[in-house]
This record gives sequence, C-alpha cells and structure tokens, in this order.
Amino acid sequence: MIVVMKPGASQQQVDHVIDRIEQLGLRSHVIVGTERTVVAALGEKRDGAKQALETGEGVEKVVPILAPFKMASTEVKKDRTEVNVLGLSVGGKKIGVMAGPCSVESRSQIIDVAHIVREAGATALRGGAFKPRTSPYSFQGLKETGLQLLAEARDQTGLAIVTEVMAPEQVALVAQYADILQVGARNMQNYPLLEVAGESGLPILLKRGPSATMEEFLLAAEYILKTGNTQVMLCERGIRTFEDHTRFTLPLATVPYLHQTTHLPVVVDPSHGTGKASLVATMARAAVAAGADGLMVEIHPDPEKALSDGFQALTPPAFRQLMVDCRRVAVAVDREM
Ligand code: PEP
Ligand code: MN
Repeated sequence: MIVVMKPGASQQQVDHVIDRIEQLGLRSHVIVGTERTVVAALGEKRDGAKQALETGEGVEKVVPILAPFKMASTEVKKDRTEVNVLGLSVGGKKIGVMAGPCSVESRSQIIDVAHIVREAGATALRGGAFKPRTSPYSFQGLKETGLQLLAEARDQTGLAIVTEVMAPEQVALVAQYADILQVGARNMQNYPLLEVAGESGLPILLKRGPSATMEEFLLAAEYILKTGNTQVMLCERGIRTFEDHTRFTLPLATVPYLHQTTHLPVVVDPSHGTGKASLVATMARAAVAAGADGLMVEIHPDPEKALSDGFQALTPPAFRQLMVDCRRVAVAVDREM
C-alpha cells in the first residue's frame, strides 16, 4: 500500500504514519517527492491495515500497489531515479557511457583503455576482474590484481569503475575498489548476492538474465532496493531466442517498457546483446533513440588478442566514432551525451 500524505503534511504526521505501519507488522519506506511525501507500507497484506492508516492525521489516501515489485514501481515513485557517481550520471538528461574491456588483462591494457575511454567522452570504465566464464578452462580474470589495476586507472583518469561481483563473499573485497558493482546476467537471480551487494551501499548495475522476464528482472532489482539501496541501474544485455545470427537477441522495446513500469534508469549493452563488433555501433545508436539512460560498451586496444569476448569488442577508433554518432542521436531525442 502507499500512504499518500496531504501536501504540507508535517514531519510529525509522517512519523506517526511510519509508527503505525511498523505496529501493523509492515516495513515503511518514505519517498519525499517535490509536491508531497508518500510512505510505502511493504509486506504481507494485513486485514484492516488500509482503514487503520487512512484515519491518520495528514493522510490524504491509501492506495494499493498493484505491481509485485513494489519499490521499483512507478506507482510508488513517479520521479526518475538518477545514479550519480564521480563523473557518471545515469537517469537524468545526460546519457552515461560505461566502456572498457570485457576483462582486465594487464596494467598497460587497462590504463591505455581508460585514457581512450575518457578522451572519447565516456564517463565510466568497465572491466571484469572476476569473470563468469562458460568454460572453467577459459581465462577467469585477474581477480584482486585486476581490481587494483582498475583503481589505478581511476586514479589516473577520474573515471568511475564498474566491475562484476559474482558471489556474496566477494562483495567486501570488490567494494574496496569499485564505484559501481555489476551483478552479471548469470547471477540476476542469485538472491543472497543481490542482498549483500545491495547492503554495500554502492550503486548496482543489474544485468538482465538471458531468459528472465521483465517481472523477474524487476523483482531481482527489488531485492536490492529492499536493503535500502536505491541506486540501481537495470541493464538490458540481450536474451536467448531461437535466433543464432547474433550471440543474443537485443530487445530494445525493453527500454520504453521499463520507463513506463519503473523509475530506475535503463542501460543497454549492445556488445553482449549482439556479440558482433560490426553490429554494436548501430544498436548503440538505436538504444539511444529508444531512450536508454546509459550504454555499456566493450572495447579493446587489440580485439584479436583479447582474453575474452574479443569478437564483440570495438577498436578505439570505432569506439570514438560510436560516441560521435550516438551524441548526434542523443541531441535528436533531447538528451546529452
Ligand atoms: C560482462 O559484462 O562482461 C558480462 C559477463 O556480461 P553478462 O553478465 O551480461 O553476460
Ligand atoms: Mn564480456
């Protein structure tokens, strides 16, 4: 349920509503809007709770939340969530671009890429240190050394670092170095990981599972929001279909659909979404046209020699061109990049 306070309701009245919600055995979550405050009452349905809350002073009305994902829903929060970390802004007028290699491979590789990313005007550096690989024989990432190299790249460039965390017990370590924790597609429904990552307080980039429905995706985000961490970005990275001309199928209708359904920012990853370097720039432009709040793009100084996902990595010149072209599309849809 959402308890909608009257415009100008006092803090004391809001506090009273919070107390009542908690006495009813529900969790409260206060959202202060520009015009009025609303208090969400979350938990199992309780008989008589609606009536009990409606009588509170300063309460205008109590309405049910229909969506199963309560805190992620636009029913609870109408204004869009913006994630701001170092120079990266996602969810406002400016489109955030997170770019970098699939994996951190060496000091020179990540430092060079960081400078390329910054000079092209992107605002965050991505790079995996803990890599979820389909085969246990593939390169698994440089782990803590990779994290240290990412931190060094941040020190040199000021770029925010986004890197993946694969297990709850890795969160504390990764959080020492990262500015944003990525929860990868394979772990979208790893609920203990979502909770521990949420509790870190760092912004979370949550990637859609390749076979997850929108409802499952938003309920996964809900696990993070429930910890009190409101800084969640949803990332469409392609789904599994019968189609095999691309690595995954990148459904861009996800972007306007999520904008209607949730206040959380939406990021598109055209690299994993297509799995082919030659298709990435076009789909990045299409994502911007569709209203994406952010892009995540894999680039590599020498894609042929990449230790993971080289086939979908853009070369530095191709990435610079992507930025130029996406900026033009951004302007056409009244955004900045
Ligand atoms: C990645 O970003 O390199 C990655 C492994 O992505 P996903 O979880 O979308 O497969
Ligand atoms: Mn990758």
